[in-house]
Amino acid sequence: MLKKFKMLQASSVKKKKIKCPLCSVKFIPRFFHLEKSKFEVSAPVHIVNKFKFKSSNGGFQPPNIVSRSWVTICPECKYVIKFAAEIGKKEYLDEDSRSILHFREFKENGKHYEYKFHNLDKPYREAHYYNTDLIGELKQRILKVLDDLVLPDWGFLYKMWKIDSQIDSFKFLIRFLSHLEKYIESLKITIDLDTTIAKIGALYIPYEIKENIINLIRIREKAVVQYYDLSEKDEKLLQKTYIELAMELIFQEMASLHLNKANIKEDPRALDKEFYYLELKELLQNYVKNTLYIREETSHFVITMLNRLKITLG
Ligand SMILES: [Zn+2]
Repeated sequence: MLKKFKMLQASSVKKKKIKCPLCSVKFIPRFFHLEKSKFEVSAPVHIVNKFKFKSSNGGFQPPNIVSRSWVTICPECKYVIKFAAEIGKKEYLDEDSRSILHFREFKENGKHYEYKFHNLDKPYREAHYYNTDLIGELKQRILKVLDDLVLPDWGFLYKMWKIDSQIDSFKFLIRFLSHLEKYIESLKITIDLDTTIAKIGALYIPYEIKENIINLIRIREKAVVQYYDLSEKDEKLLQKTYIELAMELIFQEMASLHLNKANIKEDPRALDKEFYYLELKELLQNYVKNTLYIREETSHFVITMLNRLKITLG
């Protein structure tokens, strides 16, 4: 029974727009704040009694009922709109029920009282609910397109190179290029010159990355044919190419989602850009760290990507 009651209460918060009584604009409330009560009792009784309660007849007489409101503001005309939030009833306290600190208590004609409050939920869903829903739905779409990419396999390989002494730079180079060639094949690029190098040239990625991949293929040839050992410079190139190519592929998938155009359809003004930015940043950072196993400068890569996607804080 209690559970049913709670469910009813939760659903009583309306996910719909407020209509401003002054300018008639319909909007999602940014937030409700609790109006400060004129009769707020938050200090011990001896302080409260002196100045808090002043009735119309000039004496100090606390009213029997006090109330507070949920307050929000129309984003268009700035009209202040109020809804009932809290109703406090004056109740007599006998010696046993008085608290040690006397918080919320007051004295009237030598007797002790306090207000017992009954709270009401915020009457409408605030913008945060809409923002959370939006980001939740987008996160699922983002993770889906990223999972469809080949990156988790590459990330696993890269991780092995970084943590497993069995996978040295040579092995990583061979396996990474083999993954990459499979990926290029899967794109089914049709060009006259049917070679891997030509297909790399036809990839829709920055020129510098193409050049780096081709350099890695040459290093592989040398290493296999001439028993050439990879230098530190080669290893750096290998790492750089992996990171830059992976980031480029993520960028392209993300760009296809048009994330900079995402909005809250009920009320575009309700989009919390900062929240949106920070949530996407966190999602990407986790992906880059945990799936791609890129542990250096993750924040830099992700911020650069968000800039390219035109997703901003403000
Ligand atoms: Zn208004």
